[in-house]
Amino acid sequence: MMIFPDQVSILIEQISVADEITLTLRTMSPTASCPNCGTLSTRVQSRYSRTLHDLPSTGRPVDLIVHVRRFFCTKSTCAQKIFAERLPELCHPHAQRTIRLQEALSQLGLVVGGQAGARVGSQLGFSGSRDTILRLLRQSDLPEPRTPHVVGVDEWAWKRGRRYGTLLCDLQRGIPIDVLPDRSVERVSAWFKRHPSIEVVSRDRSSEFAAAASQGAPQAVQVADRWHVGKNLAEALSTVLARCRADQAKANRAKVKREESLREPPPQRAAYRSKGEEQVRLARKAEREQRYAQVLALHQQGLGAIDIAARVGMGERTIRSWLACGRYPEPKRRRRRPSLIDRYENIVLKRWDEGCRNGARLYQELRQQGYRGSQKALYRYLARLRPVGSTRRRQAAGKEEAWLAGPLERLSTGRSTWLFMRKSEDLSQEEHKELIQIRQASPEIEAAYQLVQTFLQMLRDRSGQHLEVWLQAAETSHLPEFESVAAGIRQDYAAVLAGLTLMWNNGQTEGQITRLKLIKRSMYGRAKFDLLRLRVLHRSKDAQKENAITREAHRQRQGDPATVAQTEENTLTSKHTTSLISEVA
Ligand SMILES: [Zn+2]
Repeated sequence: MMIFPDQVSILIEQISVADEITLTLRTMSPTASCPNCGTLSTRVQSRYSRTLHDLPSTGRPVDLIVHVRRFFCTKSTCAQKIFAERLPELCHPHAQRTIRLQEALSQLGLVVGGQAGARVGSQLGFSGSRDTILRLLRQSDLPEPRTPHVVGVDEWAWKRGRRYGTLLCDLQRGIPIDVLPDRSVERVSAWFKRHPSIEVVSRDRSSEFAAAASQGAPQAVQVADRWHVGKNLAEALSTVLARCRADQAKANRAKVKREESLREPPPQRAAYRSKGEEQVRLARKAEREQRYAQVLALHQQGLGAIDIAARVGMGERTIRSWLACGRYPEPKRRRRRPSLIDRYENIVLKRWDEGCRNGARLYQELRQQGYRGSQKALYRYLARLRPVGSTRRRQAAGKEEAWLAGPLERLSTGRSTWLFMRKSEDLSQEEHKELIQIRQASPEIEAAYQLVQTFLQMLRDRSGQHLEVWLQAAETSHLPEFESVAAGIRQDYAAVLAGLTLMWNNGQTEGQITRLKLIKRSMYGRAKFDLLRLRVLHRSKDAQKENAITREAHRQRQGDPATVAQTEENTLTSKHTTSLISEVA
């Protein structure tokens, strides 16, 4: 069994196993080389022992007691007269831990952080406090920086909406290359200046990163990230849809109101009257009875209908009819027009009494029972069952009417946006139908659809040469949302054009931001910037390997542009979907 690296000639003199394992060791090589001049020496000056903590074994901590020699340097001109022999494969000079334990502790620190690393370590028999882990982390070398040529820059939030940092990625190698504590133009442009090799900067649409790149890397082509451009477009689209939807709903409400004013009053359904309403009804009835008595009394006093009408403040015709009737006039119940729902009234009332207030479900149930009337008629009927005059009823009725009115109202803005952003051949037949209905809802919506699809086509094909035509169409669309998208693109024209033409985009930067967030969260908000940076930039050996594989795959794919486009577009679409879904939710 190999206990020590084979470059180290070490003799194990003694092993003692108790709660911990202690190995006593002696170095065996006859010579040692002077760290100052490199001369080999055989002249031993003295011996001393060093204690090193090592990786645990069989659950016990392991300590190494190493007898080390001091040598004379035999080169007379060397400033170093005496030196201790080094064990470069085993430990660093003056270290208390073997290199392999240091590496294990720093990996632990990288993955779970200092505090948790120390806790987990002590359970596993790794000797190292939180401070030791953090010190090791800070001392450990970052992966050797390579000259970046294509860089993605994006922001990340220290605290959402308040404090932001900057993450820079090497897009060719797919790795994070630096983390900056803020996103100021000064700091980011200074970073760019330190990296004159940069040829392409992929960035979001913010003016800060644009300015930083222009100042710090004027030689580089700026690429407005496709995802961010797509996001702007999706936002404009969903505003148009929401606006049209609100207009439509308003028109519908007005229509419903008109209908309501023409509509007969709801049938009296004593069972569904609230206490308060019942009181009002009884009070009105009492008042009418009292009026009747008064009219009768005046009539008996010999007054005519005209005089009585003047005295009690009622219409002359009503007085005459009351007198002609000769008894207390029950208010006439107005007849409701027969409706398809009448035959199902009992079912509806039964379900209503059982507590089912879900109109859509009731509609489904009634249809199964053979109901052929409209959903709208059912809702109108249900609205009557709700307490008269309650705001809930009015709101509910308004809402039902609104979302029953058209496809635009039936679908959420988020869902509609999603349908609009998809490739039409990716939609199911059902979705296709929905889409067509929404598009037909208003000419504005159809115009928005055309603008969105043309733009997405440019994104997919990277046919930036059509951008100018698109901008003109957007500018003359009379859709303020798209006019402002166009204005924004005009201001950032070169970068958007590059984004629509070149293959680079920030997709992987976004992925690295997600990783950064995870690391930050694991530090429970106590993240010191230097540690966060270390943990983001340090990559485990596995991750590096994985990365190499990804890069290789990417290189192979690059031979086939269709595949690359496909992959990138998938990223775009799935991201949009995610963001859209989160908007809806
Ligand atoms: Zn020397």
